Parts: sequence; C-alpha cells; structure tokens
Amino acid sequence: MQLALCTWQEIDAYLTRSQGIIVPVGSTEQHGPTGLIGTDTISAELIAQRAGMVAGILVAPAFPVGVAAHHMGFAGSMSLRPETFIAAIREWAVSLAQHGFRRIYFFNGHGGNIVSLNKAALEITEEVNPGLDGNDALQCRVQSWWQYENVHALCQKLYPEGHGSHATPSEVAITQYAYPELIKSAALEPRIAPNGRFTNAIDYRASFPDGRIGSDPALANPVDGEKLVSAAVAGLIVDYQRFVG
Ligand SMILES: [Zn+2]
Repeated sequence: MQLALCTWQEIDAYLTRSQGIIVPVGSTEQHGPTGLIGTDTISAELIAQRAGMVAGILVAPAFPVGVAAHHMGFAGSMSLRPETFIAAIREWAVSLAQHGFRRIYFFNGHGGNIVSLNKAALEITEEVNPGLDGNDALQCRVQSWWQYENVHALCQKLYPEGHGSHATPSEVAITQYAYPELIKSAALEPRIAPNGRFTNAIDYRASFPDGRIGSDPALANPVDGEKLVSAAVAGLIVDYQRFVG
C-alpha cells in the first residue's frame, strides 16, 4: 500500500488495524560510471513498495536526497547537511505521529544516512513521546536493505570478490532489475576499484576518480538484482513485523 495512492479515509481505516509505516530513505549521488544517480532511492523505494504489497504494509513516499557531501565532486550529486536532513526526517515523522502512527520504520538505501537517521529517530521520540503513556509511545527503527542476514549472505555468494563499498554490483544489479532498459556500460579501469578512505569531496574524487570504491559493478546483472530484491523484501517483512509486534 502506497500512502500517496490512498485517500485519507483509507488511511483512517488502515490506522484502526495498524499504526506502522515504512518510510524509504534514499540519496541522490553518483554511483560510478555505470550506476544510476538515483540508485539508493530507487532500491529503498522498490524493496519497500514490494514488501508493502506482499504484506499489506503502508509505505510513505521515498525521501529522495540524503547526506552525501562526500559525493559532491561528481556531477549530479545532491546533498543535505546533516542538520537539514534530520530536521526534515523529524518533521515527516512527527506529521505521521499526529495521525496516530506509532511504529515508524526507516528503510534506508544509503550508508551515509545511518548516523543522521539514528539521531533523527532519537529526536522524534523525544518530541512525540512526552505526555503519551507507555502503550501509546512512538518507536522508530532504522535499517538498511543490505543489513539483513539473508541479503548479506547472498551478496557474499554472488560477489566473493569485487563487492566493495560504493557503486557495488549488488546495488547496481537492483537498479538493473528495476530499469532493464537503462543498463549502462563503460570501461572500468581498474576492473576492481581501489579501496580506502577519504576525508572530503575533493579527496574522494582524487582517490577514487571514477566514483567507485572497491567495487566491480560489471558483475551486476538484472537476474541477480531480482534475487537481491526478493531477499531484501523477505528480510524487511520479517524485521518489520517483529518491530510492530
Ligand atoms: Zn549507493
């Protein structure tokens, strides 16, 4: 169930049987020479909507721009400062809480969002819960699609080498499954990108000139993307249901 495709009466009716909602959170940032700039939003949204459809869970619109300042050396990347991101996420959640939502599951697609999402979750409960009795208290959960055990295991099996940490074959495969007509090809040199750290956007671009970190996205294909989506949907449904009790 997508919030955006419901009427207010349908949301009223949903709230009588569940106070839970999934909020997909993404990012708009470079994903190497073959990855879509919307990769993190596309994957979080696709998996959340699929889980929502299978298990009758309400899914909010995807939050499309994350904390991605380190990608700003690459054209098309967009970023919110952490405090802006936290404030916006908090206000999304507080709006939902006003209608009676009490279990807000932030389903994340971008590693750079995690610290800020956890901070936002803390601020949300601090803002909403005073005055509510224990049973009626709001809870938030932050989880990223690659963190479920079954997804992690599948990534290791599919990509024993060249998974890396940015513009990974797993995330590229998911977008290839979502948009098979948009599969990109480019020369990848070296085939597996270097691994390492960076301090800021300039350093990132200098150390990882094509945007990838440790990855070989040429390993991606849409068939594996479908497997990853199925695994993440299963992981999300189990974890969400445990969360909402
Ligand atoms: Zn990504």
